[in-house]
Amino acid sequence: MIKITLPDGSVKEFEKNSTAIDVAKSISEGLARNVISATFEGNTVETTTPLITDGSLVLHTFNDAKGKEAFWHSSAHVLAQTILDFYPNAKLTIGPAIENGFYYDVDFGDDSISDKDFGKIEKQFLERAREKAEFKMRSISKADALAYYKEQNNEYKVELIEGLEDGDITFCDHSDFTDLCRGGHIPNTGIIKAIKIMSVAGAYWRGDEKNNQLTRVYGISFPKQKQLKEYLELLEEAKKRDHRKLGKELELFTFSQKVGAGLPLWLPKGAALRSRLEDFLKAAQKKAGYEMVMTPHIGQKELYVTSGHYAKYGEDSFQPINTPKDDEEFLLKPMNCPHHCEVFNFKPHSYKDLPKRFAEFGTVYRYEQSGELHGLTRVRGFTQDDAHIFCTPEQLDQEFKEVIDLVLYVFGSLGFEDFTAQVSIRDMDNLDKYIGDVKTWEIAEQAIINAATDKGLNFVIEEGEAAFYGPKLDFMVKDALGRSWQLGTIQVDYNLPKRFELSYKGADNQLHQPVMIHRAPFGSMERFIAVLLEHTGGNFPLWLTPEQVIVLPISEKYQKYTEKVLTLLENSEIRALVDSRSEKTGRKIRDAEVNKIPFMVIVGEKEEQDGTVSVRKHGEGDIGTFTIEEFISLIQKEVSKTLVPFGNQK
Ligand SMILES: [Zn+2]
Ligand SMILES: [Zn+2]
Repeated sequence: MIKITLPDGSVKEFEKNSTAIDVAKSISEGLARNVISATFEGNTVETTTPLITDGSLVLHTFNDAKGKEAFWHSSAHVLAQTILDFYPNAKLTIGPAIENGFYYDVDFGDDSISDKDFGKIEKQFLERAREKAEFKMRSISKADALAYYKEQNNEYKVELIEGLEDGDITFCDHSDFTDLCRGGHIPNTGIIKAIKIMSVAGAYWRGDEKNNQLTRVYGISFPKQKQLKEYLELLEEAKKRDHRKLGKELELFTFSQKVGAGLPLWLPKGAALRSRLEDFLKAAQKKAGYEMVMTPHIGQKELYVTSGHYAKYGEDSFQPINTPKDDEEFLLKPMNCPHHCEVFNFKPHSYKDLPKRFAEFGTVYRYEQSGELHGLTRVRGFTQDDAHIFCTPEQLDQEFKEVIDLVLYVFGSLGFEDFTAQVSIRDMDNLDKYIGDVKTWEIAEQAIINAATDKGLNFVIEEGEAAFYGPKLDFMVKDALGRSWQLGTIQVDYNLPKRFELSYKGADNQLHQPVMIHRAPFGSMERFIAVLLEHTGGNFPLWLTPEQVIVLPISEKYQKYTEKVLTLLENSEIRALVDSRSEKTGRKIRDAEVNKIPFMVIVGEKEEQDGTVSVRKHGEGDIGTFTIEEFISLIQKEVSKTLVPFGNQK
């Protein structure tokens, strides 16, 4: 018998050679039907792999990431098989699962494939899947593996195999198809009930443009047809919410080829929105005891050599800036931290001064390959809502809790309700790769876990994910379409205080090294606004949105009353504008809807007589007639519902 430990900590005994499916069956038949892959002792195994030792077992379904990975990895095999059905001379290279689906890179030789071929491939794929072929792993010697692919003239697989150790090579067979593979499959192809070939694109072998160009065939598959339909609908919705499209339509930001790729230009409405976001965080940070600092956009190369950032960003990023003086070099700043260390160093500190919390909306520059640039989410210049906290080790616990409060406040005020956190700690088997002594690490890791627990966060602990210089806490938020975004990081750092020789005098009159915390609730203003645009579809919270009200006079006869309404709104600090075009009211309403202005105020003869306004709400329509005072207080109430000052939340 073998002892199997399940994720809930329970231990069950099974016959030797039992499989993951057997374990699932012992729990429930329903689970056994849904289990598509498994992890045994941290390694991916087939659901049919006989288990011969004691160990921990995690069962995966399509609902979790590992399950999806196995599903899509297996689907890539079926796609490759189907491609060979139509293009027997095509050479297969690699075909991994990706975040959404999978791809296969194929050398089609003289043949080619286009979207006209997708339909027939999808149909044949499902024919193949219906064979319910099992995936069977087998070991193969290096010589035999090489011979197999040499016979097929597949130089790509040959090259892959040449890089592998003999004794470490496995093939996967299903139906009449064989592929070089490390394993991790669903039980059989019959589970795949829906497939869509999404697109084809060029890709160089091994990502190197000196190599042959291959065709990357992207696909996605599901256990149910309905899931595919939902996924495609989601993609449609995501297209409508694409921040690049909305940013243009709402005139928030633009890019100019003349200025340069990856360098966003904020238009007046976008700049104002961004300032409101900054003011919002500044107000909260002030309450939380932060002090604003300002530092330049460049620094001496030596500064970044000291910090270690030159080694990371130097050669692969923007090159040093030379001056007329020999041997003088500056770098565009890739990080604000070195500057803030020098801010801390401006005078000696006592433990009584700590914690010091220096905040800055600091713009940094990093070179990204042009192919990697994407709207506001991948840019070459961006502004971090950065802050660095310098504290004693004893203060770490409390500081962490307070930073979490701030991050949760930001999420709550901006409508992100669904989020999880990840605590990244050391790899306990490789402790010597971390800087700083073991005791301080233990304190810091425990401080993060305590703070996350104390704040009721839904978090996971990832061993081995910590940076070499300290543990961290990351927040992942789910947007309205269910997509995950990493926002907000809190990182402990023992490295920079050491490199910059930071110190404070302790109660013992000795010098000690402070702990540094890097934190950015938004991450960067650019990326955050992109995520917010896609999350809200451009319908920002009322306190943040560019225009809160648009006044629509029925005709120019009511210009005077229109101006009165506008003045009263502006006097109450409500952002309003007038659509004075001589268009029909219906047209003006439609345009205001497209521009996602939350409130439309219609004024005509009756309203002027009664001193009222007729109000329409975006997406809801007519909400009735109000006196101007009533309408102003309606807006103020709505704003105060979503924007509660920091520290006053429930
Ligand atoms: Zn495989
Ligand atoms: Zn930093």
